[in-house]
Amino acid sequence: MTGRLIIASNRTAAPGEARAGGLAVALADALSERGGGVWFGWSGDIVEREPRGAHVFTEDGVEFALADLTQAEYDGYYLGYANRALWPVFHYRIDLAQFEEADFAAYEAVNRRFGRLLAQFTRPEDVVWIHDYHFLLLGQEMRASGWSGPIGFFLHIPFPAPEVFSSLPQHQRLARAMAAFDLLGFQTDRDTANFRRYLIDTHGGELLEDGRIAVFDRVLTAKTFSIGIDPDDFAALALGDEARAAAERVGGIIDNRALVLGVDRMDYSKGLPQRMEAFGRVLDDNPDLRGRSSFLQIAPPSREAVDAYQALRVELDRLTGRINADYADLDWVPIRYLARGYPRETLAGLYRLARVALVTPLHDGMNLVAKEFVAAQDPEDPGVLVLSEFAGAAEQMPTSLLVNPHDIAGLAEAIHRALLMPLEERRERWQAMDASIRETTIAWWRHAFLEALDTTRPDA
Ligand code: ADP
Repeated sequence: MTGRLIIASNRTAAPGEARAGGLAVALADALSERGGGVWFGWSGDIVEREPRGAHVFTEDGVEFALADLTQAEYDGYYLGYANRALWPVFHYRIDLAQFEEADFAAYEAVNRRFGRLLAQFTRPEDVVWIHDYHFLLLGQEMRASGWSGPIGFFLHIPFPAPEVFSSLPQHQRLARAMAAFDLLGFQTDRDTANFRRYLIDTHGGELLEDGRIAVFDRVLTAKTFSIGIDPDDFAALALGDEARAAAERVGGIIDNRALVLGVDRMDYSKGLPQRMEAFGRVLDDNPDLRGRSSFLQIAPPSREAVDAYQALRVELDRLTGRINADYADLDWVPIRYLARGYPRETLAGLYRLARVALVTPLHDGMNLVAKEFVAAQDPEDPGVLVLSEFAGAAEQMPTSLLVNPHDIAGLAEAIHRALLMPLEERRERWQAMDASIRETTIAWWRHAFLEALDTTRPDA
């Protein structure tokens, strides 16, 4: 008999959150499979006075415990340390990182307050699963509050090369705190290797025969669990009425020219300016392709309160304006850039319609858009995935057209090649990718992680 599952993630799938995303569903499934448990996270509310407890309620057998943040906590912990320091550094953008001591103090204080709170919800036989970069200190804080049971942690974003991680002024402090976890899950073998190398080279960690690492008087496991999607569900979505309607609408507007598609949150890690420049380069270099394909980029703004995101928006507006002004004709616009989100059904329809998908982040933990695109294809006439070698998904999809997203000429060449790729080659490449997304589905991911966590005993 296993204990209950206690999950902590920044946002939860509490009623009203309406995140139909695969991750939210997977974690909800994990909780209900264990016959309930607790899902702890931020309520999404910002309050004036320092909140003390959590809002607790039960929904479908899951106990939600949601804590509020004060404005100062939101600014320092969430916008500050998590998104102005950790996010850029973990995505190799030290140039964009802001290292404010006050932000780290807020990050520490929120992790402490949350860790104490969460420890109160645990029972001795439970297992705890903490998610992502918001909560790097949470395990250690739970231990300080008396929790001695197993704690698993999954990092959804990349773990950078040790030299890059070490640029964080607090890296030593973070590393010690991360050693409070018993099992650390990463998206790719590259991330796992980076983390291990960091512990071994910087902190004298020792790789044991059984693959675990002894460091800071603890023994922990670092392992790869590549996150996935539910391919059948997504394939079915792509054949649904809403998906077809969306595809017909866009197909009509682009007059059935080849659709080149990008779907991303508007984030500087996604390589959007480089992608637009490369599409412009395709038009520069191939007069015969002008008027024959349309690039649709869907990119809803995110984290607009962070300056780097505002600068990106201006850059994208400038680039689309320039390329469209150079090449648009009376009946054709080369780039359509829509700064808003769309329902999953709509995206599924557009993926299926697209001849080419551009998934070219400069760095990305996994990138589920790549997997969704593959799942949505018509097996008889699949589109081509142009994929950044720095997306986690690249490790699993060697038959995509792999590109260096910084290399505009190489990227332009790949787009050109994708647009002209013969059907037979498209099929072969797609079949291998489809097989791969069926191996590490979202259900596999949560089962594999929890199985590993269940067999991990805290080892002081
Ligand atoms: P990230 O987690 O960095 O945003 P992923 O590609 O791993 O990147 O996951 C993004 C998820 O959000 C996917 O499930 C995708 O369908 C969804 N998504 C991305 N962009 C949009 C958009 N423009 N509109 C609606 N959903 C989006």
